Amino acid sequence: MSARTLIGKTALVTGSTSGIGLGIAKALAQQGANIILNGFGNAQGPQAEVSALGVKVAYHGADMSKASDIEAMMKFAADTFGGVDILVNNAGIQHVASVEDFPTERWDAIIAINLSSAFHTTRLALPYMKKANWGRVINVASVHGLVGSAQKSAYVAAKHGIVGLTKVTALENATTGVTCNAICPGWVLTPLVQKQVDAKAAALGISNDEAIKLLLGEKEPSMQFTTPEELGELAVFFCSNAAQNVRGVAWNMDGGWAAQ
Ligand code: NAD
Repeated sequence: MSARTLIGKTALVTGSTSGIGLGIAKALAQQGANIILNGFGNAQGPQAEVSALGVKVAYHGADMSKASDIEAMMKFAADTFGGVDILVNNAGIQHVASVEDFPTERWDAIIAINLSSAFHTTRLALPYMKKANWGRVINVASVHGLVGSAQKSAYVAAKHGIVGLTKVTALENATTGVTCNAICPGWVLTPLVQKQVDAKAAALGISNDEAIKLLLGEKEPSMQFTTPEELGELAVFFCSNAAQNVRGVAWNMDGGWAAQ
């Protein structure tokens, strides 16, 4: 086994009790980083999975729609591990409706969780990273940070917003050892996407497999899902020394979606 490259670092991954966040947390733990998990639902299973990789794991249940919860989580990170070296802004939700039918409460929740939470974690993490002259901020955006899709106004607006935040954070720290980049996945078969598969299967009266084929066929030329493990490896690359001058990119891993 090659040497673990992130020993001694602490990574906070928001929304990491499930899906992509858990995949990224595990990839960073495989490189030796201590992990702070966050998210709703059962945290014990994810904690055990990460802990089995031989690193320290902590959990904080901050609701990422609330600035005060985020402040408490960042204080918890400082008290537990000294600070956050690697910040992965991943927590996110989806809602599908046309603009005129979009519930305003869903709009506000999506902007808060998918965009504003990253502003709060980043502003609170940067002082420690700058003092250490090393840090990695990785924003899990989406291919919807680069292109639009009908029925997803709040999500597309938030994801374009986080790509913008990524660029500004990268620029403001460009002469330091702190980098900021975004990951832009296409379809990844997590609970967030399974809900959309279920909705399609129910609306069209088709099977789960048929709905998946339709979903991929509409947007993703490779006809394959990207996996949380693959996204985890991209996050590990952004944390590597080789990526020290990769700054402000929005890197899609989308099976060719945005190339069309
Ligand atoms: P998921 O539903 O599997 O996981 C979402 C995570 O966020 C969970 O841990 C959940 O508990 C947490 N979360 C939700 N609301 C929260 C809140 N208010 N406070 C704290 N945690 C909260 O979804 P996923 O597909 O793994 O999505 C993760 C990220 O990846 C999201 O930002 C999503 O937009 C993005 N993304 C997903 C896909 C995809 O195809 N699945 C594609 C592109 C981008």
